[in-house]
Amino acid sequence: MGLPVIPEAAHAGPSHPSGYELDGEWHPRNLPPPPRPPAAIAVLFAKGDVVLYHSAQGAPIPAEVLVVHNDDMPPYYTIRCEGVEKQVEQHRLALSLADPYLPGRSRSEEARISEADALYARKLEEDERTERRRRESMYTFKCCICQERCPVEGSFTAQSCDHRICSECFVGFVNADLSQEHVRCPHEGCGQPFEAAAIFDALVRYGQRDLAARFADARTEEALMADRSNFRRCPHPGCNYLFAWREGDRKHFDCPKCEHAFCLACTAAEGGGSGGEGVRVSPAHPGRTCAQRADELRRDADERRRFDEWQQNNSRADELFAEYVANDQDTRAAAQ
Ligand SMILES: [Zn+2]
Ligand SMILES: [Zn+2]
Ligand SMILES: [Zn+2]
Ligand SMILES: [Zn+2]
Ligand SMILES: [Zn+2]
Repeated sequence: MGLPVIPEAAHAGPSHPSGYELDGEWHPRNLPPPPRPPAAIAVLFAKGDVVLYHSAQGAPIPAEVLVVHNDDMPPYYTIRCEGVEKQVEQHRLALSLADPYLPGRSRSEEARISEADALYARKLEEDERTERRRRESMYTFKCCICQERCPVEGSFTAQSCDHRICSECFVGFVNADLSQEHVRCPHEGCGQPFEAAAIFDALVRYGQRDLAARFADARTEEALMADRSNFRRCPHPGCNYLFAWREGDRKHFDCPKCEHAFCLACTAAEGGGSGGEGVRVSPAHPGRTCAQRADELRRDADERRRFDEWQQNNSRADELFAEYVANDQDTRAAAQ
């Protein structure tokens, strides 16, 4: 039933304030609704409302209305407040301004929305990463070996001269002559030696583990150790696994060969700190920092010391008892 369209001619003037006549029928005028009575000062609450409970003292606390008791006017309520159910009078409750749930949304809806938010945030992050990769892959350089434009991403960059070689050429270039003492930059007029550790690292990164191992084997131990700060061997006795590592790299090391794990620069001094605060290789302590590991060692040492003391005192007691028994026998023998 739509509102009647009022023809201009039939439009009633101010003399007919409440309606107009058309085709012999009286049509009430579409009057604006009467003004609402002013809102009641006390807001009556319903079951499930989230409200603020004003106790006699302290700040108002969010609460949930469980039951509305209409025995009298105004009603009183059973609310749950900080996990406790209590009955309170109307004037103790107010509309929650700090309502954690947006009006009109149920808890499950709220949970669904925050989950959607998290998903969206993850998607944004992923998009950003993809975009960064895309931008990076947009940059290419002219590889001095294959003379082609190759992506910057994943290429080998020499630390000594900043020259780049594409990954395929790099692998082939290193593989071509493993017996050379140094691998030198092939860029025209350069010839700077590449760091052995950087070569090794890149080969591992390109999935060329075998070639990396052959590269290391072809170098004398002196040549490798000239790069000492960048090369490490697995600390497990007899393992000898070689890997590139420098200050600031991850301390935790899982050996792929012997499967032992180590902390490569542990500041947890062995022996409860009495030996000084040395940096050394120690067994891995996953999930704990070196400082936490140091605390643990200190506690263990304390415990051991207390046990030793206890044992010492106990054996002293044994001695005293043996002495007492011997004396007692002497006394009895003398008495007979
Ligand atoms: Zn190339
Ligand atoms: Zn290339
Ligand atoms: Zn160079
Ligand atoms: Zn190992
Ligand atoms: Zn450590």
